[in-house]
Amino acid sequence: MDWDEFAAWGAKAAEFGAEYHKGVRERPVRPAVAPGSFADRLAPVPPEAGEEMGAIWEDFERIVPEGLTHWQHPRFFAYFPANAAPVSMLAEMLVSVLAPQCMLWQTSPVATEMEGVMIDWLRQALGLPEGFSGVIQDSASSATLSAVLTMRERATGWTGNREGLSGKGQLRIYCSDQVHSSIDRACWVAGIGQENLVKLPTRDAPEFAVDAEALRARIAEDRAAGHVPAGIIAVTGATGVGAWDHLPELVEIARDEGLYLHLDAAWAGSAMICPEFRAQFWEAVEGCDSIVFNPHKWLGAQFDCSVQFLRDPKQQIDTLKIEPEYLKTSHAEVVNYSEWTIPLGRRFRALKLWFLIRYYGLEGLRARLRNHVAWAGALCEDLRRDGFEIVTEPILSLFTFRGPGDDAAQQALVDAINADGRIYVTQGMHAGRKVIRFQVGQFDCTRDDVMMAGTVIRELAGDRS
Ligand SMILES: *Cc1c(COP(=O)(O)O)cnc(C)c1O
Repeated sequence: MDWDEFAAWGAKAAEFGAEYHKGVRERPVRPAVAPGSFADRLAPVPPEAGEEMGAIWEDFERIVPEGLTHWQHPRFFAYFPANAAPVSMLAEMLVSVLAPQCMLWQTSPVATEMEGVMIDWLRQALGLPEGFSGVIQDSASSATLSAVLTMRERATGWTGNREGLSGKGQLRIYCSDQVHSSIDRACWVAGIGQENLVKLPTRDAPEFAVDAEALRARIAEDRAAGHVPAGIIAVTGATGVGAWDHLPELVEIARDEGLYLHLDAAWAGSAMICPEFRAQFWEAVEGCDSIVFNPHKWLGAQFDCSVQFLRDPKQQIDTLKIEPEYLKTSHAEVVNYSEWTIPLGRRFRALKLWFLIRYYGLEGLRARLRNHVAWAGALCEDLRRDGFEIVTEPILSLFTFRGPGDDAAQQALVDAINADGRIYVTQGMHAGRKVIRFQVGQFDCTRDDVMMAGTVIRELAGDRS
């Protein structure tokens, strides 16, 4: 493809993007398609001869949009959002066309330096004190794995990477029973093992925080049994119902016990750009060693963009840095971010943050988040008034509820809602009961979109009772 042809197709791609997003509200959020609907429409063998771009494009338009679950649909209320503000899409288009590898300062000086500045913008935006630095990773799963590996190396006197783990006792990591599955997987692949991830019970509503007394007692028990406590993983805004741990207690325990403290705020972290939420969710956050939050969830930075803040990056660098001859550079004073992470190759993720934060300003981003929280609260009250059981009250913009009937009826209602297509929600389990999970956070979502969700839920629950 020559560059003039590239420019013409690039313009067409941008035009397609605008039209797709202008019309996405009219599409069902989740396509009504059966498994296997698309593989059959693709050639089973790769072409030997090159094809015309026009033919490729036609097939794209014919096959792809109707096979998508539309994550950028304003009535996407399932899971958590994966927001992509238009301006962050533009930045990603530019990253695509520049296609740099950002592993070392010298492989992309501006990307490295912009990453440092964006980390510091977000540190200020989230109310973290000076001294925290950080790195942009692909996902919270990777950041949490990095933190767990650091816990492992600290706890083994920095010998795990060299010698392996045999004969080093059972390393223990502590968390609540509300944490995301990425914490389990980090412990699996770090060689800690599921049985050494100690999940403690949580206290009651409204916060479902880990029981600090139980945590202290368990650490003491484990030490007495000859195990090796290595770290604590706290959560602010867990996936199920938004559970949040009391950070002041966990910071104190980590300090007393000499444990590394990682905070998973993958979803809720974005809301901490609003100072009014910090007193509740962010108190003592500066005592954490590592904090992860995903601007690609609620802030508007296109996936992937996960920010890990670190109080002392040296511990993570001592865990992950490896420097074969071909990666040596002659600049001693620069940051080489691939030494902070597991993959070597790195995308230029800072650009979309730079575009996003400049275009909307923090005030513009805060206004969106505040609306989402307010609208989720309003819908929750409407549903309560209409006789729905609110199982967990809104935590930021997430609440759970039940319609009439038993667990099977809840799942049937979720399935009916999603087959209807006007909105998309997911189910969850809370305290042994099936719940319908509702979160507001899509970037272009309006109050009318949220209120329409109420109409759809009432209508379909009414049909079934
Ligand atoms: C989404 C989420 C994760 C996982 O995030 P990825 O970036 O997809 O790895 C982890 N923890 C919480 C609380 C989440 O909401």
